[in-house]
Order: sequence, then C-alpha cells, then structure tokens
Amino acid sequence: MIQKEMLTYQDLDKELNRIERELRKNDYYIKRKKLKAMQADYEDKLTKLDQKALELKNQLAAARALMQKITNFILEQNKEITEVESESELNYMSKKLAENMEALANVENDIKRILKEGEEVARNFEAISAELPKIIAGIKKCNEEFAKATEAAKPRVTEIKQQQAELRKLINPALFDKYKKLSESQIHPVFVPLQDGVRCGGCRMEMPRGVVESKMQGNGYMVCEHCGRIIYQAE
Ligand SMILES: [Zn+2]
Repeated sequence: MIQKEMLTYQDLDKELNRIERELRKNDYYIKRKKLKAMQADYEDKLTKLDQKALELKNQLAAARALMQKITNFILEQNKEITEVESESELNYMSKKLAENMEALANVENDIKRILKEGEEVARNFEAISAELPKIIAGIKKCNEEFAKATEAAKPRVTEIKQQQAELRKLINPALFDKYKKLSESQIHPVFVPLQDGVRCGGCRMEMPRGVVESKMQGNGYMVCEHCGRIIYQAE
C-alpha cells in the first residue's frame, strides 16, 4: 500500500498542474509570449543597426582620409606638370593624373554609397524605435490582464499548498523522495493502482500474476518495468 496522504498529495499536485496548464492557455499569456519574442527580435535588430552605423562611420572616415590624400596628390601633380619639359614625362604625368582623377571619382562614389546606407540605417532605426514602445506597452497590458487570471486562481493554489504542507509532515520521507524524483523526471502520475490484479494503471502493461504477487509482497507496491511508475495494490 501507498500511504493515503501520499496519494492525496499526488492528487493535489495534479490539480496544481491543471491550474497551471489552464493559465498557460490564457490569451494574454500567449500574446505576451509573442510580444516578448518580438521585443527580443527588435532589440536584436537595433543592436545590429548600431553595429552597422559604427561600421559605416569607420568606412566614411577611411574614405574621407583617402579622398584627402588623393586630392593632395592631384594638387601636387598639377603644380609639377607645369614644370615638366619633356613630352614623354608630360605623357607619363598626364596618365598618372588621369588615374588619380579616376581614383578620386571612385572614392566619391564610395562616400555617396556610405551616406546612402547610413540614411537607410537611420530610417530603420527610427522605425523600429517607434515600434518598440508599442510592444512594451502591449506586454504591460498583457501582464496586467494575466495577473488578473493568476489572481483568480490564487486562493485555490494557496489552499492546495497549505494542504500539501500538512500532508508532507505525515508522509514517509523515503517515499516522498521517490515521488519527487519520479515527478521531476516527468513521470506523471507517479503512483498508479494495479488494475485487474495484473495491469499497470499507468501504461496498462500486463504482467504475469505470479510476478505481481511476489513483487507486491511486503510493502504492497512495485515499480512498473515498462513505464517506471509505482504500481500499488488498491484496497
Ligand atoms: Zn507502467
């Protein structure tokens, strides 16, 4: 036999689980979960946009420095070109100048591209930043509404917990440990009655009557080899 108090305790746990399952079906609970996922997603996007903005800022600084360097070089060449005497040297200098002018055009285009990307980053940042407070307000609303639901369940939950605390004092500690361990390994219910003298009341596996009888001898319960539950001899 399993202590009556232990079985009552198990029944109360079952009720607690049921209450919790019901609460998880609550619309506000579900909505809050979705909103929280959205919030995390948006915050992640903002972080990425921040990183992108920093990256663009560095790119812009590098491009501007390069532009300055090329511009200085071109100015220098323009001065030198007036002093050139030989035609071959002039050709060479002209070619160099043309190359530098092209490099300058490229870096200018690059700067335009960076600024354009920067504008887009700023736009996205603004759009997400505008959405975020709405999501946070939504979560707050869900919290309030869900709190009402938990509040409604509270008196019964408190009552159950009080009853369980009283029962706990009467339950054999070794038995209670077994119950806790099996509960935590997701075996529910832990204690099941023997059915028809041969079947596990949990998984319904049938066992030879002789085996059941010998295993039940002594403490009046046995472990189901199939599902791990504790089968007890019902009175
Ligand atoms: Zn079983």
